[in-house]
This record gives sequence, C-alpha cells and structure tokens, in this order.
Amino acid sequence: MNPRVVVIGAGVVGSALADELTERGWTEVTVVDQGPLFTPGGSSSHAPGLVFQTNPSKTMTELAAYTVAKLSGLTLDGQWCFRQVGGLEVATTEARLHDLRRKHGLATSWGVEGTLLDPAECVALHPLLSAEKILGGFHVPTDGLAKAVRAVEAQARRAIGRGARFLGGHTVTGVAQRDGRVTGVDTDQGFIPADVVVCAAGFWGPRVGEMVGLTIPLLPLAHQYAKTGPVPAMAGVNDLVLEASRPILRHQDQDLYYREHGDRIGIGYYGHRPMPADLGDLGTAMPSVLDFTAEDFAPAWTESVDLMPGLAATSVEEGMNGIFSFTADGFPLIGEHRDLAGFWVAEAVWVTHSAGVARALAQWLVDGQPGIDLHEADLHRFEQVQLAPDYVEERARQNFIEVYDIVHPLQPMERPRPLRTSPFHARQQDLGAVFLEGAGWERPHWYTANPPATDLPARDDWSARYWSPIAATEARVTRERVAMYDMTPLKRLEVSGPGALGFLQYLTTNNLDKSVGSVTYTLMLGFDGGIRSDLTVARLGPEIFQVGANGPLDEDWMRQHAPDTVQIRDITGGTCCIGLWGPLARHVLQPLTRTDFSHEAVKYFRAQRAFVGEVPVTAMRLSYVGELGWEIYTSADLGLRLWDTLWEAGLPHGIIAAGRSAFNSLRLEKGYRSWGTDMTTEHDPASAGLEFAVRMDKGDFIGRAALSTVARQRRLTCLTLDDPAAVVMGKEPVYADGAPVGYVTSASYGYTIGRTVAYAWLPAALSVPGTAVDVEYFGERLPATVAAEPLFDPKMERIRR
Ligand SMILES: Cc1cc2nc3c(=O)[nH]c(=O)nc-3n(C[C@H](O)[C@H](O)[C@H](O)COP(=O)(O)OP(=O)(O)OC[C@H]3O[C@@H](n4cnc5c(N)ncnc54)[C@H](O)[C@@H]3O)c2cc1C
Repeated sequence: MNPRVVVIGAGVVGSALADELTERGWTEVTVVDQGPLFTPGGSSSHAPGLVFQTNPSKTMTELAAYTVAKLSGLTLDGQWCFRQVGGLEVATTEARLHDLRRKHGLATSWGVEGTLLDPAECVALHPLLSAEKILGGFHVPTDGLAKAVRAVEAQARRAIGRGARFLGGHTVTGVAQRDGRVTGVDTDQGFIPADVVVCAAGFWGPRVGEMVGLTIPLLPLAHQYAKTGPVPAMAGVNDLVLEASRPILRHQDQDLYYREHGDRIGIGYYGHRPMPADLGDLGTAMPSVLDFTAEDFAPAWTESVDLMPGLAATSVEEGMNGIFSFTADGFPLIGEHRDLAGFWVAEAVWVTHSAGVARALAQWLVDGQPGIDLHEADLHRFEQVQLAPDYVEERARQNFIEVYDIVHPLQPMERPRPLRTSPFHARQQDLGAVFLEGAGWERPHWYTANPPATDLPARDDWSARYWSPIAATEARVTRERVAMYDMTPLKRLEVSGPGALGFLQYLTTNNLDKSVGSVTYTLMLGFDGGIRSDLTVARLGPEIFQVGANGPLDEDWMRQHAPDTVQIRDITGGTCCIGLWGPLARHVLQPLTRTDFSHEAVKYFRAQRAFVGEVPVTAMRLSYVGELGWEIYTSADLGLRLWDTLWEAGLPHGIIAAGRSAFNSLRLEKGYRSWGTDMTTEHDPASAGLEFAVRMDKGDFIGRAALSTVARQRRLTCLTLDDPAAVVMGKEPVYADGAPVGYVTSASYGYTIGRTVAYAWLPAALSVPGTAVDVEYFGERLPATVAAEPLFDPKMERIRR
C-alpha cells in the first residue's frame, strides 16, 4: 500500500506537492490547512505571482523553468493559471545595464532564452516606460504571471481527482510519533494518521518545526504590494479576463517590480525597511496581510511615476504589507527531519519555484532522490552557528535588503561577523589579511603584508572586486618558495569505532582498506551514481579515520548511513590546520622535528604523527595547490604555537602567508575540482574526470550499481582563454559555432601559466584539446581553447620529490 501522506499547508507548495505525489501513484494524500480552501490566507492567497526565471543558481532557474512549463499547461474552469507575458528587467544606471549583460549570460548558461534590448525596444514592449529614463533592458519571453490562487486550486483538483483529500479549517496542533517515526498529525478537528508528514506551512513553518523539535531557519518579513487606480494610458489595453498582456517589469535600481491588473498597475517594493512579522499579532481572516504603511511606500510611488510618467494621472488605491519567508542565504529549505523519520519540510519557496520544488520533493519521497541538485536548498546545509535565531534574523533581513541589489559572487555579508575564527586570526590580522566569510568562518583571501604583482594585465571593475594583484605574488611564492595557508575552515570529521572501515568503504568509491597512515581521495555518491561530495580520508588507526569533507551535508549523509557502532564527530572547531606548501616546505618543516619527513619516509598521500617543536601534529602529505608540502593538523589550543613555529622557521626561506584567492588559482592550474561548483549530484565521476577515485573492484558501495549505466554525454572540460589579459569568473555560457553549448563552473587567472583557466561542462564531442570555443563575459565573446589537463606539472614531479 502507498504511504499515507499529510501535507500541512494548502498554499501553492502544498497543493503542487499533492499533485506531483498523486501523479506518481502516491494517492493517499491529505492536505490540511487552518484556513478555508482555496484561499486559506497564506502568502499564496495574495501573491501577485511574477515569475522571473533567471537566477545565479542553476538549480533555482531550473525549478522556475519547471513551474513555468507546468503552470502554462494548467487552466481552472477555462481560466489561465499562467500568462506568458514575458519578463523585462530595465536598467536606469550604467551599473545595472552592465549587470543585465551578466544576467543574459546566466540565463543562457542555464538554458533560458533572453534578449538584451535598447530603450526603444523596451518601450515598444511596455509603452508606459519612459525611454529617457531607461538605458536598456533584458527580456525573457517565457517569463510571466502565475495566478497563484488558481494554480493552487487547479493542482488540488487534479490531486483530488486521483484520490487526494484537501481539508480546510484544520489547524495542525501537534505531530504524533512513535519510535522515531511520524505516525500522524493532531488537528483541532481530530487525529489524521500518516506515514509521511510534509511541512509546507509557509512562514508558519518554524512553529510547526517547534512541534517536532526542528529548527526551520526562516524569518517572516512583510513586503509591500500596492495597486493603482485606473491608468488612463492603459484604457482598453487589457480585458479583465486576461488581466495582463505586457511583460512583468523589474526596476531593480529602485527595488521595484510591476505587473498589470487590467488597466491598473500593481507595484511591489523591496526598498522599505525590513519589517519582521510577529506571528502572534496576525489576524485570522487573511493572516499573511498586514496593514499597508503608506509612508514606507512614498519613495516607491515617486520612482514609479518617474519610470512610467503615465502613472501620474492616477494614484495608489490599495496596498498591503504581505508576509512571506526569507532565509539566511535566499534559498528554500527542503529535506527530512533527521531525528524524526517521515517528517519533511518544503519551506521558504516562492511561487516562482513552487512546482519545481514540489516535483523535486515528490521524486525524493517516491524514488529516494530529488532528480535535481538541491544542495543549495537542503535543510541540512547550515552549520550549527547558522541556526541561531539572531543569525537567521540578521541574514534574512540583509537578504531582503539585497534582494534586487547587484551582488558580486564573492561579496560577503558584513554581519554578524566575525563568528568563527581560526587560532591564527590575530597573526592574520597583523599581516593585513583581507577576510571573506564562508560557513561562518573568517577566511583570508590575501594578505596586504605581501606586495602586489606589477606585471599583470589590467582587470575590469567586476573581476577586480574581491581580488588583488597580491594573490599573484602569493601564488608565485607558493610555486617558488613556500607559503602557509589556513586550512582550518575545511570541515573535519572523525569516524571511528568497530566497523568504521567497512562503513566508509560502503559509503565511498575509492579503496580505503590500506595501511594505517594512508590518505585517500574518494567520492561519496548518491544511489544514482551522482557525486554527493569528495573527501580526503586519512586512516589514523585500524578503525579511526579523519575525513576532510565539504560541509554539513556530508556529515548528514554519513549519519544517515552509519551503523550504531560507528561514531562520527565533527572535530573542525577543536582542531586547526596549516597547509605548508612550496618547493622549500621540507626545508621549513624538517629542522623543526625529529621525525623523518624525507620523501622516502613520508610518501605522497601518507599521514604522519609527529612533534613540530612542542606541538603534536598530524601531517598529511597532500597538496591541493600542486606543490610539495603537508596539511599540518593540531588541536586548536596549540594552533598559535604551530603558526609561530612554522613562521619563524620559514622566515629564512622567504615564507609568506597566502590566502584563498591564490589557492583557487593554483588548484585550477592543477585541475583539482571543487565540489558544489565544478561537480554536484548531477554529475557522475567519469564525466567529472574523477574516475581515478572509483575502484569498481573493491566491493559494493553506494552508487556503484548505477555507475555502469551512466552515459557520458557531457564532460567537465579544461579551457584557457586565448587572450592573456581576459578574465572570467564562473557561470558564464560557453559557445561553439555561435551556439550555447555549456557553462563555466570555476575560473581563475592562472598566474603560473599566464592566462585564465576555466572549467566548463561541455558536450563530450567538444571536450577535445584544441577545440575552439567562446566564453561570454558581460556580452563579449572571449575566444578560448580546450586544453589537456592538468595545465601545470602533469607528471607530478613537483609534489613527488
Ligand atoms: C506581497 C507578496 C508578494 C509576493 N510576490 C511574489 C511574486 O511575485 N512571485 C513569487 O514567486 N512569489 C511572490 N511572493 C512569495 C510567495 O507568495 C510565497 O513564497 C509563496 O506563496 C509561499 O507558498 P507556500 O505554499 O509555501 O506558503 P503559504 O501560501 O503561506 O501556505 C502555507 C499554508 O499553511 C497553512 N498553515 C500554516 N500553519 C498551519 C497549521 N498549523 N495547520 C494547518 N495549516 C497551516 C497556512 O494557512 C497557509 O495557507 C510574494 C509574497 C507576498 C507576501
């Protein structure tokens, strides 16, 4: 029999989920809502429904594209659920105009067609616009308007037709459980048994989460939406049934968006102060709508009339402060409760992504996998410190403020910081470290104590941000002398106990059954053979392993599969790590220790416990930068002593501290992939160039059965830009013979090779060294050539000596 599913919330997410589940044969679905159907009073009940698909995230764009495709094919009693009126983003500043070119590139990378328009073309599409005011626009013909309330009902009806139930006026008051599994929900109308419960309760999610001891890290914020009276210039343009015919508009320079409501204009505004909503203060009829605060909207009206002078003939007639969810990083929250099997979450989802998220979750529930890379939206992606209510509130507010800003991919949030600092922090500050933030960690990107290189080509403003020519110096010193890198933020897990080896063997692709002291690069795959992560596993005892991981999702996946006898401990915060790399690394390390660190004594990919001065360390002979050296680990209390010891010993050899900017350049020259950017769950090891880390002959492991069936149609491919002065950043589209064929994952200037290195997913037929392609950067096609990899030291002579 099919599992019984209860979905909490009949908004656009809950209803889409019921549709997707029943379509897959899970027909025992009950959707409950505290409000009346099908306008129960959540965010979906009054969302104006603008769907702009283009997003810096490939996943978010694909979730939106599915919503468009699905809702376009839906009607309710003959009425439309989606009007493909197109989406137009206009620029009123040079910076925005420039950024629209990048946006066009992003859309192309993710397969969404769009066009850059001049002002006259924008006005032709939307005659209310002032041609004098705008500099240009970006038009996506497939964007449009979702009629959220209709989409809710249309999807609900389909689900009901397949056996689902929708119950309005049912407030969930508790979630019943037995032996770590959900058994049903308590409502004010009685108990409903369930094998699976999905929280799609919109911004009430945290409250439902509290019922099961789960933090759902979102912040309900009010956002202003207003409607004008009739606009004379729009008389007769739209009939009342179709509502809109011109593109939905974005005027992001002033935090504004627009749509048509017949002869009126709807105006959404993000320029006001963040207004967190107190759930205790909400009314019952339409709880997600608060009173309109006209004074907050005043600047929006002035700017709107400026952009569309025809609006001066009317005024704002109605408005609301409508509530919906914001998260710390702008992504949804999707996944299963780890301590309560069968309790799932689909939260902080826009109408734009609703059907896409519903499909992914339905697939995840029914097939065990979401069918799309969801790591950015996974409920378990946060570190503990990122679940603090103060953190969530601060970051969510900031996301509200920045929602339409031009945000550089490296731009860190300024608050709350600093949160996590390595033991070397004070020394790094003394050296003028420029810190960016990741997973709460302060991470030096370069050190102003180092001199800038003076022989580099000039950069454009965008690629010069969060970059310094100092990075070139740091990279070169690493290649020529020796440098210290703070590797502390790399997540470290200790996996130990009887069965630890067998567990890791089953969990990962490479053979870990080697002698104590071995270090192995290995992959974690999903059951479909997609790459969930790449790990460095050091065997420190027969059943003790130190695992270098990518983030909380790795720990989560491990915990899901670990037998009771195996302990998994996050040792990141209690330990620290210095990467000591460069041809002189041994000159620095050896005199500090009585342990033999010769090439013969501690070979490449071996771990060695030792004392460095007084400091007990574990040194692993690894190198993400492609030079001789070690990752040197110790406990956090001794970190400063370790830093000072290595630093003093290194001074006669010209040691420097080096940051992540140099690191990223060096790793790309060596072809070392970064999980989450270069490859994700959507890629198999062979296509990603990682088959060397897969041992099919070692016995069974997760994903093994799927590997042989995976077709290699696309390959992660190394490119170099032909012009030594050209730079790209990542996510740009790649063209062959004038047509888009793929997209860049990571890119950096290679300071050793003297040109930009870019990795890109390309059709296998094009992944042949010497193939000519173009990479589009802000509208400009930059010639590039597929290169044999790695570009630097392919024989590994620098590491193995
Ligand atoms: C003014 C405004 C403009 C917006 N504009 C857009 C836009 O243009 N494009 C876009 O993509 N998105 C937009 N959004 C965001 C979008 O509306 C929401 O993200 C989306 O509707 C959320 O859908 P949902 O199903 O998750 O939540 P909701 O629609 O809020 O549904 C959750 C449901 O759960 C029910 N519920 C909660 N707790 C319980 C309980 N204990 N028991 C039973 N039922 C419960 C609620 O009654 C509610 O009906 C806008 C939002 C607002 C407020």
